[in-house]
Amino acid sequence: MARPTTAVIDTGALRHNLGQVRARAPGSRVMAVVKADGYGHGLERVARALSGADAFGVAALSDAERLRAAGISQPILLLSGFDEPSDIGRLRALHVDSAIHHVSQLEMLEQADPGESIGCWLKIDTGMHRLGFAPEDARNAHARLAALGGVVGDIRLLNHFASSDEFEDAPSHGRQTRDQIRVFNEAVAGLPGERSLSNSAAVLGWPEAHADWVRAGGALYGISVVEGRTGADFGLQPAMTFGTRLIAINRIRKGERVGYAATWECPEDMPVGVAAIGYGDGYPRAAPSGTPVLVNDRRAPLVGRVSMDLVTIDLRDVPDARVGDPVTLWGPALPVETVAHAAGTIGYELTCSITRRVRFVER
Ligand code: PLP
Repeated sequence: MARPTTAVIDTGALRHNLGQVRARAPGSRVMAVVKADGYGHGLERVARALSGADAFGVAALSDAERLRAAGISQPILLLSGFDEPSDIGRLRALHVDSAIHHVSQLEMLEQADPGESIGCWLKIDTGMHRLGFAPEDARNAHARLAALGGVVGDIRLLNHFASSDEFEDAPSHGRQTRDQIRVFNEAVAGLPGERSLSNSAAVLGWPEAHADWVRAGGALYGISVVEGRTGADFGLQPAMTFGTRLIAINRIRKGERVGYAATWECPEDMPVGVAAIGYGDGYPRAAPSGTPVLVNDRRAPLVGRVSMDLVTIDLRDVPDARVGDPVTLWGPALPVETVAHAAGTIGYELTCSITRRVRFVER
């Protein structure tokens, strides 16, 4: 029997969320970030649903290849940039732009044969200290790119925020983001080229950073990374419902313990449901007893450890539950952010972690 575990992807929600991003950043073009298989929702499926986006952002050239094979004709940006000389030919063949964040890339471009020009997005490290040129090196890097006619096409300017999920009303008052905006503007002052600063959180909370292009990932999937706020709080619709079914209901006696390592003890004689989902499907093992699931659309808490194929559920509040009944792990009625918070992570990690044995359904 096939496992009843499914990820239902609501393509209407993806389109709705693109509309929400556009409404919040009306002066900007929208790059839909579809790396990591569209944050686990399925790369081609997401790209087709978001065919109204102005561009797509990926983290691997193989993803750009898949998008072109699927007939996606919009600009594509390789967000973390190419890293070897042979990538230059692939960028050209696929008409894919690259982030340029390191001097080694400038050197590879300077060695490249003339040919079709590559769109370059010069990345400035304004304080995240991950990828990018130091602000004081931005002009020199820009000049080196601009000198490479025949290899380099349009040059755009890029920043990435480290903590744009902290808005001005957060305890930090969004200090780091304000600093990053200032450092970026100073570093690129007077340089030609379109600007892109904002990820999803900045789309939602930092209108002054919307600039020419916003790069939205999470918001398009309906997921928020803002502490204590779900995607729905911002008018977004969750695009994924992760579900399964009850495959057993057992009456367990008071004082008995449930699951690996016997971490949970029954406080009374009670029904415990067993659902066909576990960390082998991508449900987080770190989700502790008490993490909510929905059984027949009613909330019930997990009890005991999440195992590879199964979870166990306290059914005292769903006494009419039967074997075969639907169990929802997250979706519109149970925010993925709630589950992620319980498991000590963010919603993005949960949707990205769904494994290949889960059946994907589009609706
Ligand atoms: N831009 C870059 C460079 C990224 O690495 C990412 C993802 O982390 C994004 C934009 C999109 O971020 P988010 O999903 O928070 O919108």
